Amino acid sequence: MDKRLKEIIDNSEYIVFFGGAGVSTESNIPDFRSSQGLFKARKEYGASPEEILSHSYFMRNRETFFDYYKKNLIYRDAKPNKAHEALSYLEKIGKLKAIVTQNIDGLHQMAGNTKVYELHGSVLRNYCMKCNTKYDVDFVMSEGNCRRGVPICSKCGSVVRPDVVLYEESLDMDVMGGAVREISKADTLIVGGTSLVVYPAAGLIRYFRGKHLVLINKDKTPYDQNADLVINEFIGKVMEIDL
Ligand code: NAD
Ligand code: ZN
Repeated sequence: MDKRLKEIIDNSEYIVFFGGAGVSTESNIPDFRSSQGLFKARKEYGASPEEILSHSYFMRNRETFFDYYKKNLIYRDAKPNKAHEALSYLEKIGKLKAIVTQNIDGLHQMAGNTKVYELHGSVLRNYCMKCNTKYDVDFVMSEGNCRRGVPICSKCGSVVRPDVVLYEESLDMDVMGGAVREISKADTLIVGGTSLVVYPAAGLIRYFRGKHLVLINKDKTPYDQNADLVINEFIGKVMEIDL
């Protein structure tokens, strides 16, 4: 682990981690902003990921939505990387109290973290829009459960949708409230793998009142000048625990 980061962690008692898509790129799940994602989506679908993954697009064009969604947001073989493992270790030794994530891949829980606030929901959870029956990701991905790629509830025949927050939809207030509470209690906030240009990411940092703000991101962010420590490197390498 980066020495400066380790020193801050050693001197902290209530660490909260706040992360984005960059946390999972080393698990081979591409982010949108720094990878080819934006460009590719425009070329293949004539729209940006934000447009395709919006509520209005989903309502208008379910077949294309699910085609894009299944090809670009579901990575069933993805495994936690060094960053997820380090965060799991920090929870086990009692230093890390919560993770707030914009990711929808479930990798923090897979790594063993138990207090995870998923601001944008999870691709692992799905529900029928009419009768609310719950389905897992295998159900959604199995063609036998779909009509032209759109998953259909086996109880009532309505559309099954992922429990993720689409663009234009509002965040779950309980999850948001929990995230704000944890961030405002933290003595150290480690922010990683997020560009901090979109709401609510940038807004959440304002609730932090602790001692150490650490930013770990490959590229620069608008908050770099507010941080005590900025590390512009790969997060898995920066956080890797050498036991
Ligand atoms: P974002 O704006 O948070 O950008 C990702 C940031 O991570 C970039 O600034 C990039 O420089 C940085 N980064 C990439 N790999 C890194 C690494 N290995 N180490 C350190 N920094 C790294 O997120 P986005 O890509 O614009 O995605 C927008 C939203 O889409 C997300 O908030 C999320 O809801 C969803 N999304 C989720 C996943 C996922 O669940 N894994 C993946 C893609 C997009
Ligand atoms: Zn149903």
